[in-house]
Amino acid sequence: METKEKVYLFYKETEEMISHAELVKNALQKNGFIPCSTPHDASYIISIGGDNTFLQAIRKTGFRNDNVYLGVNIDQVGFYTDFMINDLEPLIHELQQSEQDVRRYPVLEVSVDNKSPFYCLNECSIRSSIIKTLVLEVIIDDHHFETFRGDGMIVSTPTGSTAYNKSVGGAIIDPKLPSMQVSEVSSLNNNEFRTLGTSFILGSERLLTLKVVQTGNEHPIIGVDNEALSIRKAKQVQIKLANRQVKVLKLKDNSFWHRVQRKFL
Ligand code: NAP
Ligand code: MN
Repeated sequence: METKEKVYLFYKETEEMISHAELVKNALQKNGFIPCSTPHDASYIISIGGDNTFLQAIRKTGFRNDNVYLGVNIDQVGFYTDFMINDLEPLIHELQQSEQDVRRYPVLEVSVDNKSPFYCLNECSIRSSIIKTLVLEVIIDDHHFETFRGDGMIVSTPTGSTAYNKSVGGAIIDPKLPSMQVSEVSSLNNNEFRTLGTSFILGSERLLTLKVVQTGNEHPIIGVDNEALSIRKAKQVQIKLANRQVKVLKLKDNSFWHRVQRKFL
């Protein structure tokens, strides 16, 4: 089938990954797709590597919503990577379908001190960078909800719920529920400081504001997926669901719950 559709490949420039990318390029060319050197006019963006490479592929190409993302893994299928380097036939097969099954993943929009936003596919985390606890005012819409004191907080997307969020006891959320989950990292709870103590899930219209209380610990680390922001002295972080979603090509019989089962059960 002649398609002439452009495909951009994203991978780490190591000897190993370059040779894997060659395999993918050849398979694409043989089937009428055109590998291209910039992501701008590509219909598909393929990451080659693990989930971390997939997260980087989305970040470095700007969380676009006018193309479809796919992940090819090297060792074993991951949460975002459905295809395997040693069996590229299912990839070509899915790319050639006239009616493709595409998943839409909710994305977070994070704004620090009202500056231009960052996007996250897994989570935004805010953590103390020193031994002292971090104090955050937690505000839902314009309602002051609690004062948090502890190591930090994680705000995850549904697809990010199986990552950092899960390690701190958060629930796994179906990506069909556009929502964000707020989880604590080691909150202090005593007669002076009180937090909910469990994760909570906010609906798609909510705005979450985390205000850094000035207690001598004003340099928290703010993480967006697998990157730390280089902002040194954040006063306030605002998080909501973005009005964009990331589209990912779906492999048959490989739903979110298939992948949760495969990874954890
Ligand atoms: P990493 O520290 O190398 O790996 C974290 C692990 O999480 C890897 O096995 C990675 O898979 C996997 N992973 C990534 N996204 C996932 C998802 N949505 N569901 C389930 N597993 C997922 O860092 P990384 O590979 O760059 O991944 C960044 C992510 O690590 C962050 O977004 C955060 O969620 C997570 N993280 C977790 C903890 C924790 O659990 N204590 C602490 C910090 C960060 P691959 O091996 O395929 O890349
Ligand atoms: Mn990794």
